[in-house]
Amino acid sequence: MSEPRYAMTMDTVRCVGCNACVIACKTENDLPEDAFRDWIVSYTRGSFPTLSMEIHSERCNHCSNPPCVGSCPTGASHVNEGGVVLVTHGKCTGCKACIASCPYDARYVHPDGYVDKCTFCLHRVQRGELPACVTVCPTKALTFGDLDDPDSEVSRQLRQREHKVLQPEQGLEPHLYILT
Ligand code: SF4
Ligand code: SF4
Ligand code: SF4
Repeated sequence: MSEPRYAMTMDTVRCVGCNACVIACKTENDLPEDAFRDWIVSYTRGSFPTLSMEIHSERCNHCSNPPCVGSCPTGASHVNEGGVVLVTHGKCTGCKACIASCPYDARYVHPDGYVDKCTFCLHRVQRGELPACVTVCPTKALTFGDLDDPDSEVSRQLRQREHKVLQPEQGLEPHLYILT
C-alpha cells in the first residue's frame, strides 16, 4: 500500500467557535501557558446589512511546499510520514528562520528553546486514533484522513463540498481545507 497523504477539513457551516479543539490540543500535547498549536479566527464577510461571519479552527497546514522546512538550517524542520511537517526538538536551535518563513503564523517558540507547532497528532494517528482536536469537536466540524484514499471521508467531502485553502496565492499547497 502506498504512503498516505494526511489532510484535515474544517467545516465553516458546523464550527461554532467553542474552543474545545484548542483546549484538547493544549491538554493532549502538554503545551505551555500562552502557547497554542491551533486557534480560532472569525472573519466578517460582506457589507452592512448583508454581513456574514465565518469561524475557522486553524493550525499548521502541513504544506506540500513548506518554506519552514527549506529555511531550517539544521534539518530540525522536516516532512515526515504522510506529508506531516514536524520539528525534531533536539535539532532545533530556536533561530526562528522557520517562523519568519511561515505565512500562516503556525509556529511558536517553546519556553525550552525549540520551535513547536501542530503535528496532526501523528503520535495518535500512528496508534490508529484521530487527532485530539478532531476527537473532541462537538459539532464534527473537523475531519482528518488520507487524501490519497478516494474512499476516505476527507476525499469524499472535497469531492462534494465547495472548499478553499488559506492564502492560495502563496503556492504552498496547504492541507487544511476550509469547507464553505
Ligand atoms: Fe469549531 Fe469544533 Fe473547534 Fe468548537 S471544537 S471551535 S466547533 S472546530
Ligand atoms: Fe510550515 Fe507554516 Fe506550512 Fe505549517 S503552515 S507546513 S509551519 S509553512
Ligand atoms: Fe493540536 Fe493535534 Fe489538532 Fe494539531 S492535530 S491542532 S496538534 S490537536
